[in-house]
Amino acid sequence: MSRIAVYPGSFDPITMGHVDIINRVAPLYSEVVILVAQSAQKQSMFTAQERKELIEKSLSHLKNVKVDFFEGLTVNYMQKHKAQVIIRGLRAVVDFEYELTMAQINKKIAPEIETLLMFASPECYYISSRGVKELAVNGGELNGFVPDVVKEAIIKKLKK
Ligand code: ADP
Repeated sequence: MSRIAVYPGSFDPITMGHVDIINRVAPLYSEVVILVAQSAQKQSMFTAQERKELIEKSLSHLKNVKVDFFEGLTVNYMQKHKAQVIIRGLRAVVDFEYELTMAQINKKIAPEIETLLMFASPECYYISSRGVKELAVNGGELNGFVPDVVKEAIIKKLKK
């Protein structure tokens, strides 16, 4: 039976923390879908299309990973595409409460879907998209925080 996992998030932009989670999850499933949220409420640095392209370029080494957009509930997308598992990443304790609540809401509305939480690797524990953007805006060095293609895209975006 093919097992499809979905990793939803903003990915604005994808960081080495996300890449680490995806590298570790990809061997566990037949297919992993990175689901880029197209939220109208959140102000983003990159458009959903740009975020999708940066993810694809950063993960070209993984053959069973694809990227898609979705506006709406992750579980609705998953039911439509027959996916079984939601992947989320955990860094510090502050992530815990939000992830627990989301997992419980999703369990309530779609009991057949499981949430799998993965701990950040120690070297990625402090990396967040928001931190990367703050660093970039203030002229910080982005090596090690994001893939090279993302670093170039941020520099280009800030020059505009
Ligand atoms: P969202 O806006 O949905 O939180 P993000 O793109 O910020 O989207 O993150 C998507 C998921 O990846 C979340 O579960 C988040 O906790 C996880 N994540 C983000 N950065 C890291 C990291 N450095 N290590 C592990 N997980 C991470």
